[in-house]
Amino acid sequence: MQRRYIRLLVVLLAAFLAFAAHLSGRMAAAQPVFSFAEAERAVFLTFDDGPSTVVTNSILDTLERENVKATFFVVGERIGGREETLKRIAGAGHTIGVHSDSHRYGEIYASNEAFLEDALRCAEKIERVTGVKPCLYRFPGGGTHAEKAKLLESLGYKIVAWNAVCGDAEARDAAPCDLLETAVKTSEGKKRVVLLLHDGAFNKATAEALGDIIAHFREQGCKFCAF
Ligand SMILES: [Zn+2]
Repeated sequence: MQRRYIRLLVVLLAAFLAFAAHLSGRMAAAQPVFSFAEAERAVFLTFDDGPSTVVTNSILDTLERENVKATFFVVGERIGGREETLKRIAGAGHTIGVHSDSHRYGEIYASNEAFLEDALRCAEKIERVTGVKPCLYRFPGGGTHAEKAKLLESLGYKIVAWNAVCGDAEARDAAPCDLLETAVKTSEGKKRVVLLLHDGAFNKATAEALGDIIAHFREQGCKFCAF
């Protein structure tokens, strides 16, 4: 009687193990078919120098159509008259950061005081229009500016640089296909791409290239992120 009981237990255990193995096989088969490294690659599209009326709105149309979120580093003095565009950026769920109030290097970098005053003036304008207090800063013209970065960081700001470009700052009249090519080249091999683009009034080619730039990173299995 006791031996039969043990045999029954063994049969039940074997059946359970076979079922568990079958189940785990099915679960493994249900895993997505991209590798871990590919799944981890992230692209941050960042737009400097706006808002501008035509270019920024065209870029927002493309981002909406492609369901991609981005980050806009705006210039305070360019907000006046384009409040609706700034509201549209915020309303669509994109992130807005500070890119100075005047964008005039000589004034901004004249002293720490001038720098801070300029940055906070832009931040106030962003908050007044969108209701959101910005907490990101991008230096006009780039660079590290260690002391000035510390000042902003002490106020809770995060400084955002870039590690890939599309070349729209260097050649304003570049063809959209050249911008795509530069974006592809400069982002190659980078797991976390922070791409510098511009949405100033002169950057029509950037707006035209954006759809193809997004398609390229999408083909690579990248995830689009905003700061
Ligand atoms: Zn700029």
